Amino acid sequence: MPELPEVESFALALKREYAGKRLSEFRLHRKDLRFPFDKPVLERIFSRGSVLLEPYRIAKQLVLSTENGMVAVSLGMSGSFIPSSFPKIALHEHVTLIFEDGSALAYVDPRRFGFWKPFVAASEISTAADPLQEESLLEIFSCKKFTDSERSVKDALMDQNLIGGIGNIYAVEALFRAGVSPLRKCSRVKHNEYRKLSEIIPRMLTQAIDAGGSTVSTYRRLHGESGGFQELHLVYDREGERCSNQRCKGIIRRATQTGRSSWWCPRCQK
Ligand SMILES: [Zn+2]
Repeated sequence: MPELPEVESFALALKREYAGKRLSEFRLHRKDLRFPFDKPVLERIFSRGSVLLEPYRIAKQLVLSTENGMVAVSLGMSGSFIPSSFPKIALHEHVTLIFEDGSALAYVDPRRFGFWKPFVAASEISTAADPLQEESLLEIFSCKKFTDSERSVKDALMDQNLIGGIGNIYAVEALFRAGVSPLRKCSRVKHNEYRKLSEIIPRMLTQAIDAGGSTVSTYRRLHGESGGFQELHLVYDREGERCSNQRCKGIIRRATQTGRSSWWCPRCQK
């Protein structure tokens, strides 16, 4: 499932290759994804002659806009963008933006959990903390939803209402780097550990963005390349392996939390 670094990688690639292009046509190839498309509004936003403005990211969503309005695109489980060969339609190509210069951009999504939502104010998309901002994280970590909560710190890190963009991969990787067990309750995480997490998370996500995200199953970048950050995963999907911390003889364990796998080193992470 694409998390913040994967979405940011698409935003950067689309900005580089498509921003400033003038649209000649906008095509929807089905009625819905996770939700029905608001066809009249989307057709107005991407109408002939409108210019695609610089794409950017809010939380885990990618914003595509023109002078006529903004659309938040959620990639869901398996959404991605690829160059389109329109009028030839690729498998699972559900939306196509065709530009005056003859190029075209496709949104493909085999599992169709993504959505395209027109919006006016960014607060309609997310009011959660931005995990690329240390101060933003420090602020959310000091509120009661963390300090007084009995839920696990991993679940809280992945709560999109609290922090926008961290999913399973980056939650377990951040907790390993901070030496905090994913099973620990929020209320038991110490102030200095929250401070450590707020330093580690933006640094790790920036590294992941620079690497083009993590490819663990279906995620591919704009031109089909894999991301590179999976090479830097220290615990994710490493059950039974030696801990990557040189001085540690621990073996990585796995457990299921709220339906998702967690991995951790029982020696380094208390
Ligand atoms: Zn260890």
